[in-house]
Amino acid sequence: MIFHDILVIGGGLAGLRAAIAAAENKAEVAIVSKLYPPRSHSGQAQGGINAALGNNPKAADDNPEKHGFDTVKGSDYLSDQEAPIYLTEQAPDAVFEIEHWGCPFSRTEDGKIAQRPFGGAGYPRTCYGTDKTGHYILQTLFEQTIKHNIKTYNEWVVIALAKDVDACCGVIALNMHTGELQAMGANAVIFATGGSGRMYGNSTNAIPSTAFGVAMPYWAGVPLKDMEFVQFHPTSLYPNNILMTEGCRGEGGYLINKEGDRFMSKYAPKAMELGPRDIVARSIQTEILEGRGFEDAYVYLDLRHLGKAKIMERLPGIREITLDFIGLDPIEEPIPIQPGTHYCMGGIDVNMDGASPLPGFYAAGECACVSVHGANRLGGNSLLETVVFGKRAGTSAAEYVKDKAKQPRDNALERALKREEENLNRLLKSNGNENPYTINAELRKLMPEKAGLFRNEKLMAEGLAQIKALKERFKKIRPIVSGGSFNFDKTWALEIKGNLEVAEAVLAGALARKESRGSHFRTDFSKRDDANFLKHTIASYTPEGPKLSYRDVQITKYQPVERKY
Ligand SMILES: Cc1cc2nc3c(=O)[nH]c(=O)nc-3n(C[C@H](O)[C@H](O)[C@H](O)COP(=O)(O)OP(=O)(O)OC[C@H]3O[C@@H](n4cnc5c(N)ncnc54)[C@H](O)[C@@H]3O)c2cc1C
Repeated sequence: MIFHDILVIGGGLAGLRAAIAAAENKAEVAIVSKLYPPRSHSGQAQGGINAALGNNPKAADDNPEKHGFDTVKGSDYLSDQEAPIYLTEQAPDAVFEIEHWGCPFSRTEDGKIAQRPFGGAGYPRTCYGTDKTGHYILQTLFEQTIKHNIKTYNEWVVIALAKDVDACCGVIALNMHTGELQAMGANAVIFATGGSGRMYGNSTNAIPSTAFGVAMPYWAGVPLKDMEFVQFHPTSLYPNNILMTEGCRGEGGYLINKEGDRFMSKYAPKAMELGPRDIVARSIQTEILEGRGFEDAYVYLDLRHLGKAKIMERLPGIREITLDFIGLDPIEEPIPIQPGTHYCMGGIDVNMDGASPLPGFYAAGECACVSVHGANRLGGNSLLETVVFGKRAGTSAAEYVKDKAKQPRDNALERALKREEENLNRLLKSNGNENPYTINAELRKLMPEKAGLFRNEKLMAEGLAQIKALKERFKKIRPIVSGGSFNFDKTWALEIKGNLEVAEAVLAGALARKESRGSHFRTDFSKRDDANFLKHTIASYTPEGPKLSYRDVQITKYQPVERKY
């Protein structure tokens, strides 16, 4: 039987950094990834990674403490404050480490790492490599995994956790090359399966970024935290929602409505286009809803005044995308944009060590909720979270496995394998006539409508009822051919099942949270309500739907006040 002391699931930035940390701490570790690691969504990150380096002349007095405060304020005071404080303290070292490993960051004239302004931040502190930062960092970390001789199971899809009585003891995975199910034993498992953005139709996320990675531990009894907080990025390309990085506005881009106004002056007079994402996204949507958008669907992101030289130097990827996908050159014309679903602040409930309530089970990166970002994430803080908390999860897991026997728990793994074989067969042999892709399309259509930028009781209750109905229909899907290598029909049945399950937790949490905070904005409860809702939503799986409970937010240094920008 396959056995590794630590198994990291996911080859994005969080998974790679966790695996490197485990190896640095002398643990034996392997990575399992459904994608070849450099194809992970982390590679799509454009704008940059935050660290208070003070390299920009306008940021000479920036420091990690200010970065920490901006992050807490950005979170609308829902983050557990030790986490953003740790994140921002670690940020400079984390960025220098990546630099020393060879990441080609853009440079200032005197050779330092270049930094641009980003939304909700008091100083220009987003370090970048043109508009391809995630791609550069991902390649850099992948090289380090090769240096450490870390074994990678590429194109293996994990489909379930394996548990013994006292702990997680591995995973069950589908080897896509052979089509076989395989039990993989481990003393610790670290999930780094990325975001769940593809539950929504209007998503900036890559197609593999489904909620299945979050659903697996949820089914295994690990709770989810703060799932109702879903970030809508202000600027995604109309009509296909490809991301137009915040770096566009960081470099000085304007947002313009049909009347030619820079409308952000109404909503965030000081920060303007560089307000935090929740506020800018709602402002754009308000303009569109009130008839000041184009074709009732978009406004303009105008870069023309930046000039050709700056666009070619700082935003070449943005220009490539607009040319390739809509035949538009941003040097000549403004870019049509609308908000798009971008990031899940919530996720698998873990502490700062990445440890979940299930011994031996860890999570890091976008699938996890530490919680750093609270109700709203600042741009540039997610790449940072993947490396800082990825490293910490890998280090903690290495410590945890130290005295454990280096052998698989055969009985528990065989039981899990048998159970999953039966579950999968039942799913594949389903003899109904529902098309799973139609169900997924219906889910992805309803999510932005019922759990979108503006929410209310009626919309969310309708949405929840619709998801329950979709779950019932999913039980009657058409048969699916079971064998074969690279049988994506089979894995998509599972991905869609995961989407339905986690979407239900998003809506249940949102419906119960009768206030507005960060990305969660209710027209029927438009104010933040600290007296009743300064707390985390914890969703536990039951076959009837999520069971909700609440946990206090850790407030240490910064007392909640109203956010103004
Ligand atoms: C277009 C875009 C631009 C962004 N730009 C920025 C930015 O400029 N700055 C910033 O801070 N943040 C940015 N973000 C957010 C940030 O990039 C992500 O949150 C972060 O990279 C997630 O990293 P991750 O390692 O958690 O997940 P991912 O990079 O998504 O990796 C997930 C991994 O899990 C694997 N996996 C998933 N499910 C399974 C399974 N069942 N079995 C086996 N393997 C599995 C996948 O193969 C993949 O390797 C951006 C996001 C998007 C979508």
